[in-house]
Amino acid sequence: MDRADLASSTTGKVGAGTFCTNHPGRSTMLRCNRCDKLMCTKCAQRTPVGYRCKDCVRGQQSLFETVLWRDYLVAAVIALFLSGLAGVLLISLGWFVIFLAPMVGGVIAEVIRRAVNRRRGRYLAYAAVGAMVLASLPNILSLNLWSLIYLLLAGSTVYAKLSGTSI
Ligand SMILES: [Zn+2]
Ligand SMILES: [Zn+2]
Repeated sequence: MDRADLASSTTGKVGAGTFCTNHPGRSTMLRCNRCDKLMCTKCAQRTPVGYRCKDCVRGQQSLFETVLWRDYLVAAVIALFLSGLAGVLLISLGWFVIFLAPMVGGVIAEVIRRAVNRRRGRYLAYAAVGAMVLASLPNILSLNLWSLIYLLLAGSTVYAKLSGTSI
C-alpha cells in the first residue's frame, strides 16, 4: 500500500504509543474507518471505501449486519431509560397497560431505529429487549403483575420491530 493512502486513513488524534489491536508490540497510526480500531499495516485490508480491519471486512459480507458496535450500547441505553420510565408510569395505571404497552414498545423501537440511523443487526433487538428486562426487573421481583404484562407486551413489540427484515 502506498503512503498517501495510509496517511489519508489515519486520524489526527492519535499520538505516540498507539499500537495495533492484534499486535501489541507494533506501533501504528492507522485506524479502521468503520470501527475506529487501531491496526497495523499487516492487519489493515484495503476495501473500496478505505482501510478496514479484518473483523469489519468479514462483517461486510453478511448482508444485514450493518450495525456498529456502539449501536448496541445506544439501543440498550435508550431501552433502559425509556422502558424504565414508561414501565413505572404504566404500571400505576393498572389494566390500561394492556393497551398502552404495545404503543410504548412501538415508540421505543422507533426511537432506537432513528438513533442507530436505521442500521440493522441480528443482535440489536436482543440488546434492546435485554435492557428492557433489566429495567423492569425490580418491579417484577417485587411481584408486580402489571409490570410483567407490560414487559411481555412492550418487549415483544420492540423485538418484532427491531428484528423484522421489512423495517
Ligand atoms: Zn496488526
Ligand atoms: Zn473495523
